[in-house]
Amino acid sequence: TKSDHSERWQIFDLANSVVSERRMQLSSALKEAIENDSFSLYLQPQINLATGKVYGCEGLLRWFHPKLGQIPPDEFIPIAESSGLIHSLTELVLEKGLNYQKQLVEQYPGHVLSLNISGKDLAKKELLVHLITLVNQLNLNPSQIVIEITESVTIANEIYLKNILDDYRSVGVKLALDDFGTGYSSLAYLSRLGFDELKIDKQFVMDIETSKSNQTITKAMSDLAHSLGLRVVAEGIESEQSYTRLQHYGCDYGQGYFISKPLAFEDYLKWLYKVSH
Ligand code: C2E
Ligand code: CA
Ligand code: CA
Ligand code: CA
Repeated sequence: TKSDHSERWQIFDLANSVVSERRMQLSSALKEAIENDSFSLYLQPQINLATGKVYGCEGLLRWFHPKLGQIPPDEFIPIAESSGLIHSLTELVLEKGLNYQKQLVEQYPGHVLSLNISGKDLAKKELLVHLITLVNQLNLNPSQIVIEITESVTIANEIYLKNILDDYRSVGVKLALDDFGTGYSSLAYLSRLGFDELKIDKQFVMDIETSKSNQTITKAMSDLAHSLGLRVVAEGIESEQSYTRLQHYGCDYGQGYFISKPLAFEDYLKWLYKVSH
C-alpha cells in the first residue's frame, strides 16, 4: 500500500541521514586529526617468495580516534578524497614513510618501501615536488621506493595519465598497479603506461585454495605480467598452502597475514630482526 511505501522511504531516509551524518562527523574529525597528526603508518612485510628473504614493506595508514575508536582506511580515505583533505594526508604518508625508509636502509640496505597514493593526488604537482624534496633531503635511493596506484584511476584519459606517471618515473621511483583484476584495464594498457610492478588483488588470493577459477586467473595474470616485464606481488596470502602455490606460480613477492599483519614501526623492526638473525 501507499502508506507502507512512505514508511519504507522514511526508514531509507533515516538510514541515509545516519550515513551522511557519520561522514560529516568524520570529515571534520579528519581535518583535526591531520592538524594534530593522529595517524600512524603501519608497515606490512613483503617477502621474496623464491628465497623467503625480506623484500620490503607496504605502508598502511591507521587512524585511532579518541571517541570513535579505530577507523579503517577503507572508510576514511574516500572521505578524505571527497573533502579535499587527501593531499595533506598523503603528504603525511610520504613524510612518515620516507623517514622510516631512511632508518630501515641503514640496517637493511636493499629494503624497498611501497606507499599508496590516491588517484586524486596524481594531478597535484606539489605532491611530486614534496616527494623529490624528501628523497633528496634524506638521500634515499628512489629506485627502492614504490608508488602504488589503484587500478580504478587508469580509466582516466590515457595520454594525460601517461604524462603524470612519466613525471613520477623521471624521479626514479617505481610504480605499482594496485588491486589488479578488480577493474577493466588490460595488461597491454598497463604496459603502455609503464608500470614496474603489478599487485594481484587479495580477492583472488585469499580463497585461492578453494577456487579453481581464482587459481587460473592468478596464474594467468602472473605469467602475462612477466611476459610484459613487470614484477608480480600477490597480496592477501593467509595460509601456507597459498604461499606455496603462489611460489609455484612464479609470483615474485608475497604479502599477507600468513607472513605478517601490518605492524607499527617498532614492531616491524623487531620482526625484521627476528627473521634475519
Ligand atoms: P590496499 O592498498 O589494497 O592494502 C591492502 C589491504 O589488505 C590492507 O588493508 C591490508 O591490511 C590488507 N591485508 C593485507 N594482508 C591481508 C591478508 O592476508 N588478508 C586480508 N583479509 N587482508 C589483508 P587496510 O590497511 O585496511 O587498507 C585498506 C585500503 O585503504 C588499502 O588497500 C588502500 O586502498 C587504502 N589505504 C591504506 N593506507 C593508505 C594510504 O596511506 N594512502 C592511501 N591513499 N590509501 C591507503
Ligand atoms: Ca596498496
Ligand atoms: Ca591492494
Ligand atoms: Ca584495496
